[in-house]
Amino acid sequence: MQYQSTRNSKINVSSAQAIKKGISEDGGLFVPVSIPQITLDEIVSLSEMSYVERAGNVLARFLTDYTGDEIKKCTTSAYTAEKFASADIAPVRKLSDSAYVLELWHGPTCAFKDMALQILPHLLTAAIKKTGENKEVVILVATSGDTGKAALEGFKDVDGTKIQVFYPAHGVSEIQKLQMTTQEGGNVSVVAVEGNFDDAQTGVKKIFGDKEFADVLSKRGCTLSSANSINWGRLVPQIVYYFSAYCDMLKNGEIKPGDKINICVPTGNFGNILAAYYAKKMGLPVKKLICASNSNNVLTDFIATGTYDKNRTFHTTISPSMDIIISSNLERLLFIMSDGNDELIKEYMSSLAADGKYTVSDEIEKKIKDEFYAGYCSDEMTKKEIKKIYDKYSYVVDTHTAVGLKVYEDYVNETGDTAKTVIASTANPFKFNKSVLSAITEGKNLDELNEFELLDLLAETSNMEIPYSLGSLKGKEIRFKTVCSKEDMKAQTDKFLS
Ligand SMILES: *Cc1c(COP(=O)(O)O)cnc(C)c1O
Repeated sequence: MQYQSTRNSKINVSSAQAIKKGISEDGGLFVPVSIPQITLDEIVSLSEMSYVERAGNVLARFLTDYTGDEIKKCTTSAYTAEKFASADIAPVRKLSDSAYVLELWHGPTCAFKDMALQILPHLLTAAIKKTGENKEVVILVATSGDTGKAALEGFKDVDGTKIQVFYPAHGVSEIQKLQMTTQEGGNVSVVAVEGNFDDAQTGVKKIFGDKEFADVLSKRGCTLSSANSINWGRLVPQIVYYFSAYCDMLKNGEIKPGDKINICVPTGNFGNILAAYYAKKMGLPVKKLICASNSNNVLTDFIATGTYDKNRTFHTTISPSMDIIISSNLERLLFIMSDGNDELIKEYMSSLAADGKYTVSDEIEKKIKDEFYAGYCSDEMTKKEIKKIYDKYSYVVDTHTAVGLKVYEDYVNETGDTAKTVIASTANPFKFNKSVLSAITEGKNLDELNEFELLDLLAETSNMEIPYSLGSLKGKEIRFKTVCSKEDMKAQTDKFLS
């Protein structure tokens, strides 16, 4: 299977090269030239398998230049009982006759990013060997909070790699910040950026695009790569859990083979929901994809109007991992929807860079509307939703998952669709303890409580256990205190690598 750049069909690479490079030199994203297919019979047989086996099966269809043994080594090293608190890895929890929550946060950092970032370092180190790379691979990450920690945890002390993470100084939760600034490992660096996530992401993209700097680093024996969801190695492991959810529902008799389900995803950079769309294109029986946003509702507007316009106010919300205005992975969707029209994608992306907006053709707009429903939810409604779910089901969800549940409800009210729906649950509620607590404990003053008292209170209220990786942050040494301006990011990378 060959991969190409979304902006230039003449740039062709293998999957190992796509994963090693992270992003194409023309600024485009790597996409498979065709989408592998899976039959219903094959899906049925997957339902008898473990998560690791399901992952191996799906990955092998995309990563055709990896041997069976290499893939097996990656999947068995990533999805272990030591790293995941649930034996099912990504269990499905039935909320009602139509709503099924896919819990993607049982990994070491308590957010769904672990599903991909626990396996990416293995895929990447295999890729380094396969492609005969002799340079050290340096991972640069811009994070809205969860990717950074998940990538640090995945890459810490991995031979032949270094990792540097940039996070918005005022855009992440206290726990997220502590998780990153206390990170262990000899090959890691963490820097706060004065700005929001988009500033950090733009800064990292600039460093990637700086050819002169790449030459300097090359002389030092380093080559840059990305662990953001622009890297194909992030996307492909995310396709797995949508198959896995369907298989679990088959196995439990909730659906029959061929029954179509909806998938609802709280969305930021459009990576997670894009993985669901790939699953559908491969042959997973899916009806609608429901794209849920917070008040940074650029995607809701885009899907409604066909115009993507980033010229808008940035909102800092209680679902910070979705505070994103430039959803990078949309480029891959546009590529598929335009039947691989690289010239057109290049045009849209130039227009986004120059004017901050673009409008897709009527045909593409219609195709997107056929596949996707989009909605958004304010902070106030998010909190109401957390309370509602808690009262109704004695189940506590985090702020991102609540956005998904609320938009799903709006979808049902608007369409009357009763099809069974999988809602992606993207974070453990303990990670966003204060907002979650303020939603479910009415009138309680939480301002006096520190992070760890908040964790205790949430454990008491929810009857859930504090995840070990969060509770154990208490008393850990803060290793990283650097704050830089967005103009200073390259200098930070330079310093880290000198
Ligand atoms: C990253 C993240 C999202 C957004 O996922 P995308 O793939 O960027 O759309 C949603 N919720 C949580 C908790 C996240 O960490």
